[in-house]
Amino acid sequence: MLSFERVKIDHADPKKRLQGFTIEPLEEYSDSSAVAEASRCIGCNICTQSCPASLDIGGYIKSTAVGDPAQTVRIVFENLPFPAIIGRVCTHMCEDICVLYDTGGPIAIRHLKRYAADKFDDYSSIINVPKKKFVGKRVAVIGGGPAGLTAAYYLSIQGVKVTIYEKLPALGGFMKTGIPRYRLPQDVLDKEIGYILSQGVEVHLNTKVGKDISFKELMNSYDAVFMSVGNQKPRMTGTPGSDAENVVHATEFLRRSSFGERIDVGKNVVIIGGGFTANDSSRTALRFGAKNSYIFYRRREIDRPGYPSMNAEEEMEEADEEGVHYVWEVTPFEYVKKGNRVVAVKYWQNDMVSDGKGRAKPVPNKDKVQIIDADYVIEATGQENDYTFMEEEYLRKLRLTPQGQPIVNPNGMTSIPGLFSGGDSTNGNRDLISAVRDADQATLGILQYLNLMDKVSEEFIPLVDRWKKYSPMAAKIAYSERSS
Ligand SMILES: Cc1cc2nc3c(=O)[nH]c(=O)nc-3n(C[C@H](O)[C@H](O)[C@H](O)COP(=O)(O)OP(=O)(O)OC[C@H]3O[C@@H](n4cnc5c(N)ncnc54)[C@H](O)[C@@H]3O)c2cc1C
Ligand code: SF4
Repeated sequence: MLSFERVKIDHADPKKRLQGFTIEPLEEYSDSSAVAEASRCIGCNICTQSCPASLDIGGYIKSTAVGDPAQTVRIVFENLPFPAIIGRVCTHMCEDICVLYDTGGPIAIRHLKRYAADKFDDYSSIINVPKKKFVGKRVAVIGGGPAGLTAAYYLSIQGVKVTIYEKLPALGGFMKTGIPRYRLPQDVLDKEIGYILSQGVEVHLNTKVGKDISFKELMNSYDAVFMSVGNQKPRMTGTPGSDAENVVHATEFLRRSSFGERIDVGKNVVIIGGGFTANDSSRTALRFGAKNSYIFYRRREIDRPGYPSMNAEEEMEEADEEGVHYVWEVTPFEYVKKGNRVVAVKYWQNDMVSDGKGRAKPVPNKDKVQIIDADYVIEATGQENDYTFMEEEYLRKLRLTPQGQPIVNPNGMTSIPGLFSGGDSTNGNRDLISAVRDADQATLGILQYLNLMDKVSEEFIPLVDRWKKYSPMAAKIAYSERSS
């Protein structure tokens, strides 16, 4: 009988999860659970409107419902070359808008994608991309994160020779160095990045553009360049005491952890911030043995980054299960030092003041100073763009938004002919699936720019906005209306 209740996703025991980085919070669906959950979908495809990558969600859920996960993976690959990664950590705005939200719960779209992708150790047995001959064009990709990898995949399968330049010793961008291994296991990264590279992508690791090779050289020796350098320059608060040795930016903390370093964080860890990065830092600190992991956020719970959305709720639920403490509406104003180490954080409680226009603003109430012990402080206070790797002659021509992001046309091309850009460096969403969307668009743009459209296999070009135009606000509006 058809059930309208969403099939429950079991959570692994938080105590066991905290013993290391190997246990994922969500357990895999069994075959029967996956089929039962997928069978609830009515195939209306309303959800695609809020999927930045315009996936055929109704189509691939249906394949799972009829017991054909290989077809599910094939459909996802139309626009996205890493379904097992996205099946774990996507912001899954599609679920916020699912028409079944109030009828037993939204379809577990993300979890079903993971289920299907995890069925296959090697996609070459199910994705039948014919080997294309070299079409005579070369593209350089700067940065091997999700945007760069996506463009590399879709260009390579069209016979374009792609070379990725990555400054770090590993590919993946923040999928590798930001998102911790308990949320995104290394073998999943290896499987999916390995499959992308198997399409003939050349990779130069430990190669920083602007230092080990010049940007100008890439512009002169390739037919086009895709710039997917992310938004990676740490923004520190400058709070007095932040020069202490036990104060770090979250991206540095998580990067060191992702490369296997075990960091001594002591007993009490204070994290400043409120988004993905703060949550991942706090949960990583607990796995390093912290007894108390506090997230200090200057606004209210409902103002936190990513909220309102199911993703933000789920992220907090998992952090709560693991014992993270949230401290809302606070402004840290001094890291108290002993020698060169912070031992405590002084802070004020904020009042949220609204002037009737826009968001309420946090205003510190300075009458009452509070203090909390801290053995380690992690600043998860965002990152900035950094284009210092470009020579002045290019910087002058690169048109930027007031927020400092390159302005791109609908094909992903910047104001410099032949230079394309996408991912966190360019879009405001700053999540994986939006980076994929940018790369899909830029792939199409690059193929057009290189006059390759008459040589491509049309069935393997990413399909951007295939039904309705993607609406970044659709899911947010649907979710906030429901929760109000
Ligand atoms: C801690 C954390 C958790 C997150 N969690 C999630 C999540 O759960 N879900 C989600 O959807 N998103 C999440 N995000 C956001 C997501 O990871 C990013 O939106 C995404 O990785 C952006 O992709 P990108 O390819 O644009 O850039 P990045 O992933 O930042 O990759 C850019 C790459 O370029 C390289 N690079 C930079 N400059 C140079 C240079 N000069 N030369 C050579 N290489 C260079 C960098 O080393 C890096 O590898 C998270 C981010 C962080 C930090
Ligand atoms: S909105 Fe929900 S029911 Fe409709 S196709 Fe998407 S997942 Fe299925």
